[in-house]
Amino acid sequence: MLGGLNPLKEQATIIGGGISGMLAAYYLGDRGFEVSLHEKGPWVGGLLDTTHYSYGMVEQSAHSIRASKPVLQLCADIGVELTPLKGSQSSYIFRDGKLHRMPLYFGETLAMIARMVSRPKVGEKKTLEEFGLRHMGKPATDYLLAPMAFSIYGARPSELQVPEAFPRFNLEPSRNLFSHMLERKIKGRGSAPMVAPKYGMGDLVKKLEAALRTMPNVALHTQSEVTYLEPGENRILATPAYITAKLIADEDPYTASLLADVKYAPLITVTVFLERDSMRHFPNGMGVLIPEVEQIPILGILFNSSNFEGRVVDIGIESLTVLCSGTPHPELIDKDDTEIEALITDALDKVLGLKQPPLKMHITRWEKAIPLYNAHLALAQQRAREGWGALLGNVLFGNYTGQVSIRGLIEDSLHFTENEA
Ligand SMILES: Cc1cc2nc3c(=O)[nH]c(=O)nc-3n(C[C@H](O)[C@H](O)[C@H](O)COP(=O)(O)OP(=O)(O)OC[C@H]3O[C@@H](n4cnc5c(N)ncnc54)[C@H](O)[C@@H]3O)c2cc1C
Repeated sequence: MLGGLNPLKEQATIIGGGISGMLAAYYLGDRGFEVSLHEKGPWVGGLLDTTHYSYGMVEQSAHSIRASKPVLQLCADIGVELTPLKGSQSSYIFRDGKLHRMPLYFGETLAMIARMVSRPKVGEKKTLEEFGLRHMGKPATDYLLAPMAFSIYGARPSELQVPEAFPRFNLEPSRNLFSHMLERKIKGRGSAPMVAPKYGMGDLVKKLEAALRTMPNVALHTQSEVTYLEPGENRILATPAYITAKLIADEDPYTASLLADVKYAPLITVTVFLERDSMRHFPNGMGVLIPEVEQIPILGILFNSSNFEGRVVDIGIESLTVLCSGTPHPELIDKDDTEIEALITDALDKVLGLKQPPLKMHITRWEKAIPLYNAHLALAQQRAREGWGALLGNVLFGNYTGQVSIRGLIEDSLHFTENEA
């Protein structure tokens, strides 16, 4: 979140009815603020939506959430039932035609550890690629860091900045990566388990909307696109950076110009239903990530039906979600369904070994899916904090303001419960 509320004025106008805007409305409404939330589309939820088809559930974007305490509390308060992971939390990495839990060879692992223990932090900001090459070496950068960057941001390590994109790599001066990671593990940081709403992300949105509709002090307006920002007491812009840029252009042209240039990775999610025995390999785990060096044009595959209950209606059917496009393959966004289906079938065959073609595929395209946490975004955030956001009552909140994940957004939105945001 960038900027701060004016707690002396108990009115708030929120623009954008994705999860960020809904969370702001929920916590401020609960606190007694008079809230009016404006969403341009016919329904709230933004990127989050679940569709139920004859084979099972299809998530349009997010699938799972880390179950931190604030996430569990919110879900309990609004009545969202969560389902835990059924099987292993492990993810696989594809290398040389096989799925590996640890994709590095013995010598590469030793070389990585040697770098992790011997290289203390020097300098402040780095791209994730520079960080990886310095502290882990090339094989670990290609086979560990790059797939992780793809799975969260849909972007290459060279396009992301540490520590903004991965605060877990924020090394204190003179600490090495090995001792830093060991300490995090001992303290149990980042270890909240993965969960999913039992009836899909759409249920989280529906329950949050239902909670807002029961609050007499909250007015929720759909099909209410805001094109001009009125002066007001508390104004919370929960829109993507490129929309926010237009809204604040008159009041703070410089911040607006920086926000307009925030780069977003495109993403395509393809949910695939197939017969259980139509794959040669279907291991127990969260999914498999595909390093770019393997030259298969997808970013990863989530094993939906082996992860969570209720993802398929028939036990003989499996559900996978293939993530593709991202910054390595932006051109895929313009391909038609037939071309995407052919590409996915071919990739699934290479990774999981297909004996029969899939039964059904559902394709969702996001032209601007995830903001790239790079040096430009860090500058835009800083300027937003010092510029438009420095005026009490002006708040920017969304997945470009510091947190991309739903867990992160929920935790950040708790600032709305405090006297000062
Ligand atoms: C493919 C994909 C997979 C993901 N997977 C996960 C995952 O598994 N787990 C996880 O934690 N996170 C995941 N994420 C990230 C997470 O889903 C997003 O960061 C989060 O949903 C963003 O919410 P938001 O409210 O900030 O933005 P949005 O959802 O984009 O909402 C912005 C809202 O503003 C509205 N709006 C725009 N302009 C105006 C205007 N002028 N007036 C009024 N309203 C306006 C839009 O219609 C939209 O509803 C994923 C994201 C994607 C794209």
